Amino acid sequence: MRIAIVGAGISGLSTAFYLQRSRPDWELLILDSNPVPGGTMRTVERGGFLFEAGGNGFLTNKPDSMQLVKDAGAEQLLLPSSDLARKRFIFTDRLHRLPESPPAFLGSKLLTLPQKLRVIAEVVTPAKRDEGDETLQQFGYRRVGKAFTDIFLDAMTAGIYATTPDRVSVNAAFPLVVNLEREYGGLFRGMIKRRKKQAGPGGILMSFKGGVGRFIEHLQEALSADWRLGTRVTGVLPDSGGYRVITSGGEEQVDRVIVSATAPAAADMLRGLDEDLAQQLQAIDYSPIAVVGFGYHDLDHPLEGFGLLTTTAARLPILGVLWDSSIFPDRAPEGGRSVRVMIGGQRNPELVGQDEAGLIDTAREGVRLTMGVDREPDVSFVQRWKRGIPNYPVGHLKAMSDLFDHVSRFPGLYLNCNAYRGIAMNDCIRNSRELANRIAG
Ligand SMILES: Cc1cc2nc3c(=O)[nH]c(=O)nc-3n(C[C@H](O)[C@H](O)[C@H](O)COP(=O)(O)OP(=O)(O)OC[C@H]3O[C@@H](n4cnc5c(N)ncnc54)[C@H](O)[C@@H]3O)c2cc1C
Repeated sequence: MRIAIVGAGISGLSTAFYLQRSRPDWELLILDSNPVPGGTMRTVERGGFLFEAGGNGFLTNKPDSMQLVKDAGAEQLLLPSSDLARKRFIFTDRLHRLPESPPAFLGSKLLTLPQKLRVIAEVVTPAKRDEGDETLQQFGYRRVGKAFTDIFLDAMTAGIYATTPDRVSVNAAFPLVVNLEREYGGLFRGMIKRRKKQAGPGGILMSFKGGVGRFIEHLQEALSADWRLGTRVTGVLPDSGGYRVITSGGEEQVDRVIVSATAPAAADMLRGLDEDLAQQLQAIDYSPIAVVGFGYHDLDHPLEGFGLLTTTAARLPILGVLWDSSIFPDRAPEGGRSVRVMIGGQRNPELVGQDEAGLIDTAREGVRLTMGVDREPDVSFVQRWKRGIPNYPVGHLKAMSDLFDHVSRFPGLYLNCNAYRGIAMNDCIRNSRELANRIAG
């Protein structure tokens, strides 16, 4: 059996890993248009500082990434976030500490007393009866009120999906929250009951010594596949009971194809196979995002915490700032500090189109306005993602169910990346492991 895996981001790599594990005799062909694997998971070194081009790790509240780390024998690379990372901030008109406990929430100046009472009234807010999809904003306004939604949920959505609560489906993007309402009748009731059931610590942010790129290298080394990096796939056509994969370097005959490239790239390569399938894939939209990293050899700001997220109402040119060297101290050399600024998303997509100098200026302005840091960084890093994070709008779950029904008409062809059923590293790895197990039988 010869299987092509198109796209060597974490979805493609973990599918390959689990396929190799259960079917070591199968031949795996891994193709990616980039010269290095990892997709958006890439670590770049600049003047002794380490910058992540995309995500900086995974949360241990779901088991999937940790399981892959163990299965791949990479535990020695694990790097837990520092305790400081629990301290988080939101910028509205000024910086507020994000309350971590009910007493801190009651004492917080982020909401007025009536707004806090509206949040508490969630306990007696009746559950939605129908199972129809709605935006996070509709869900939030219904359950916890406008003020909480426009501040807390707005900042959180920018931080995770680079979008806004009115553009994202709560059912597709936050299924756990929807389940709390469905199963327990409300969020607070659900959280209290779940906490009683699951004794033990919650999840923490985990990364890798030397950055997420080290884990990608480890996976690459663990995979004895036929690697074709720097090879763009332009078409996938049925041939002799299998598929012919057309690439920038020629053609490959395989029995099965797993397309783990971004949805628009998948649309382009599958157009010759089925135009309707290509259109369904093309309809999946992405938020552009730029990541600007700054390294400082000395900085007066203590960077005590995880970093900050901004709200839409604050009308700032940045989504947030991650205080990287406080979260993972190995990201900066001795005595140095580093941050990464997130720009764009659905709030300001046009800002991502700027050139490097423009993005650095925007990031410096954001850091000045939110943190009061007004000095030139010693080192800077810029990564622009035109298709950064896939959007999950209202109707996404139905669209995905239709898409997967459609693709099932092509035996031996599979779709798997962050555009369909979860964007977090944990989701990508879970979906990949399940797909590999299904294919391996
Ligand atoms: C800025 C940012 C921050 C993030 N932060 C976090 C975080 O902290 N925690 C977390 O859990 N998640 C985070 N995420 C999300 C998570 O990292 C991604 O969802 C995940 O890495 C996506 O992996 P993937 O393999 O599905 O897709 P990708 O990484 O996009 O990989 C797709 C691959 O397909 C290849 N490809 C595309 N077209 C072709 C073609 N024609 N031929 C061959 N190959 C092709 C690409 O080169 C790429 O390697 C973040 C994402 C971004 C952008």
